[in-house]
Amino acid sequence: MRTSGGILMRSDKRVTKTLKQHAQSLRADAIIGLSVDIDEISGKGSQMFMITAVGTPVHLKEVARVQIEKQDGLLDGVLIQQKVRADIILENYKTVESINRETAEFIATSGLREFEPLLFRAMNEDYDSGIDQSPKDKQEILFRYFDYLPADEAIAILYNALLEGNLTTLQVKRINAIITSSNFIDYAKAINLLNSNTHARRIALKIFSLDKDWYSKEDVAILKSLEGNALAKFFPEIVQVEESKGMFSNGKEVWRCECGHTNKLDYSNCGSCTRDKRGFAEKSLKPEEVQERLNRRVRIIEKLDL
Ligand SMILES: [Zn+2]
Repeated sequence: MRTSGGILMRSDKRVTKTLKQHAQSLRADAIIGLSVDIDEISGKGSQMFMITAVGTPVHLKEVARVQIEKQDGLLDGVLIQQKVRADIILENYKTVESINRETAEFIATSGLREFEPLLFRAMNEDYDSGIDQSPKDKQEILFRYFDYLPADEAIAILYNALLEGNLTTLQVKRINAIITSSNFIDYAKAINLLNSNTHARRIALKIFSLDKDWYSKEDVAILKSLEGNALAKFFPEIVQVEESKGMFSNGKEVWRCECGHTNKLDYSNCGSCTRDKRGFAEKSLKPEEVQERLNRRVRIIEKLDL
């Protein structure tokens, strides 16, 4: 009995795992109302079990609690409970490694704005090159925090951080990934980014390369204002031209890359780091690519004649 119990337990796990995979293929975050039934089918001296797991895949975003702090003079007990838990987490947070998966999930799905500073701290932690997947996984869970906020709030937080400009390269990289994967697009705010610092401009470029779900009249007007060759002017050449002091090239004009390497004037890319005179690495998204996509999008929109 004990053995078959063990086997059953394992089969049970396998069934729920299959269900989980099905749910994930439907882009669901969770399964609710999960019930597992075990039926015994016996006959001819053999014993067989049929395990059935039934559950409803849901998008947590849809079941996330709408926060009401006060109603009819009463304070929301669940919210207070969550805020107390948040307080403890914030007090003890050191790194992503110091929290467990469940805490990461709580933070991500909480919708609590007090976690904002923690999120920006976590963005600055680098586990990309590590062999241990677990901190990286927890980080991925944490970054879903923005998916559980109303989109306009998430956009405001992320774009404002970019505008303020005191982010590290790693934080910018994370924000870029979050904006891209969650399609946090706001053209009006992206224009502000274009007129801001280098990091913000690059992200703005990315934003204009993404496809929106819906285009408002304002969106179309912004796209039209960028039609033609407008993007290029936001990305001027940033390199210094100077006279070289080499033994054989003394006095010749060269350009000095951000990385410090000097290159012949007619070289379009740095011989050391491959970045061009505007600072774009070989494989990074460049203004001309985005411009081409944008122009094409405007032409299609114009044909639709809205
Ligand atoms: Zn270089």
